[in-house]
Amino acid sequence: MSRGDMAKPLLGHGSREGDCSPPPPAGRTVGVLGSGDFARSLAVRLVSSGFRVVVGSRNPKRKASLFPAAAEVTFQAEAVKKADVIFVAIFREHYSTLCDLADVLVGKILVDVSNNTEINHHKESNAEYLASLFPACTVVKAFNVVSAWTLQSGARDGNKQVLICSNNQEAKRTIAEIAQIMGFTPVDMGCMSSACEIENIPLRLLPAWKIPIFLALGLFLCFFTYNLIRQVIHPYIREQKNKLYKIPIEVVNTTLPCVSYVMLSLVYLPGVLAACSQLYYGTKYRRFPDWLDQWLQHRKQIGLLSFFCAALHAVYSLCLPMRRSHRYLLIETAVKQAVEKKMTIWVEEEVWRMEIYISVGIIALGLLSLLAITSLPSIANSLNWREFSFIQSSLGFIALVISTLHTLTYGWSRAFDENQYKFYLPPTYTLTLLVPCTVIIAKVIFSLPCIQHRLLRIRRGWEKGRYVKFVLPSATGEFSSGETSSNV
Ligand code: NAP
Repeated sequence: MSRGDMAKPLLGHGSREGDCSPPPPAGRTVGVLGSGDFARSLAVRLVSSGFRVVVGSRNPKRKASLFPAAAEVTFQAEAVKKADVIFVAIFREHYSTLCDLADVLVGKILVDVSNNTEINHHKESNAEYLASLFPACTVVKAFNVVSAWTLQSGARDGNKQVLICSNNQEAKRTIAEIAQIMGFTPVDMGCMSSACEIENIPLRLLPAWKIPIFLALGLFLCFFTYNLIRQVIHPYIREQKNKLYKIPIEVVNTTLPCVSYVMLSLVYLPGVLAACSQLYYGTKYRRFPDWLDQWLQHRKQIGLLSFFCAALHAVYSLCLPMRRSHRYLLIETAVKQAVEKKMTIWVEEEVWRMEIYISVGIIALGLLSLLAITSLPSIANSLNWREFSFIQSSLGFIALVISTLHTLTYGWSRAFDENQYKFYLPPTYTLTLLVPCTVIIAKVIFSLPCIQHRLLRIRRGWEKGRYVKFVLPSATGEFSSGETSSNV
């Protein structure tokens, strides 16, 4: 399926298949029960989308001024009589108060927009509960994942998807059409049993971010402890020097790039492992283990956290000269130099190291920013598949290589200096190099023509142990064809 196909709403329009323009509202009257935040935003949006809106309130006189002039605000029973589709914009706890309207509600479509305050709060979903109270109505669960703010500010500024479920296909189609006219993308979530899942969605706190955040925190904790031992505890134990002042900025600032760099390599490591698995088994149709699947799915979040840590590292680094401790040490060095009557402390090698170190660091941060920006859905949607994969895969790998140069210029020859092995612990940067260098070496090996060719064939459907007629693009970009067999 192409990216274009995937962007299309799941619900079709029957006769309007292929027609991009939204279907005309046909002057449909839509009812809204409730006069709260959601009801008001919904009414504004429905009116601006060309619908006639009738709002049902327990106190229409008091609430009328809160709604657009085009919307009619009346008593609940009156509103229900005038519309076939009724949005129930009140809380679940108050559904039973609508039972007086049961007679006038017969045969109507009720749209349940409600959310809960806790995940799986009730045994049955709110929509199922509403359906049980009004068996003569058709209940559709929809619009609960859209906030009142999104409704009012327009679909451009918020989540565009409206998840819909119902046991009645016709009613579901009607609500999908209304959602589409309002500028949203309806997503068919199946029958009413999905309502519980849909109601839990707005309550989940960053579900896709849990693992990456724990990973980042875990790495931060490990590197922070390691740096603390080297930079604070070691001088205290060995020389009785109090370096606690280094904790808030220096130790944090040496930890952040370690986390960022390792996280960046962890974005590309699962791809390497997946390629190894495909090469080993000679097929792309074998399922990856669950942990690898999960890891592959979290690459975007891991990459964004890597960028976040790199950005913090840049800000911390810029602030280093502002510290009192830095100024005191600078003055102390100047005084020492004067006492020793030294005219210059210029070390050419150090000057070059620093210039290169900062320059590659800035380039790496620039590339990481580009990767982060293009991973945002609004930007990613404007790129074709080739552009997206070039930025995320090729430029991402270049960012990893440049970050490695940044780390190497930082470390320079320190790995060979025995004074750097505090408590026999190697400098932190040597540890951070392990995973990224493994990824870089693996990627270089995969780019060798013999391996690249085999991997490409596997990814185009070739399988070890199967005899298939095969067409492959050659290394020069032309297509070569031939008979291949598993034993090749
Ligand atoms: P709200 O501001 O508190 O409004 C609730 C409305 O319910 C009241 O204005 C009231 O209107 C009506 N109501 C009817 N019977 C009631 C009774 N017995 N007691 C109290 N009120 C009664 O709440 P809201 O934020 O608009 O939310 C309404 C529904 O939309 C909820 O189910 C919520 O989960 C859902 N929702 C809200 C948002 C959001 O961003 N706010 C987003 C998604 C879903 P009258 O006094 O005019 O009858």
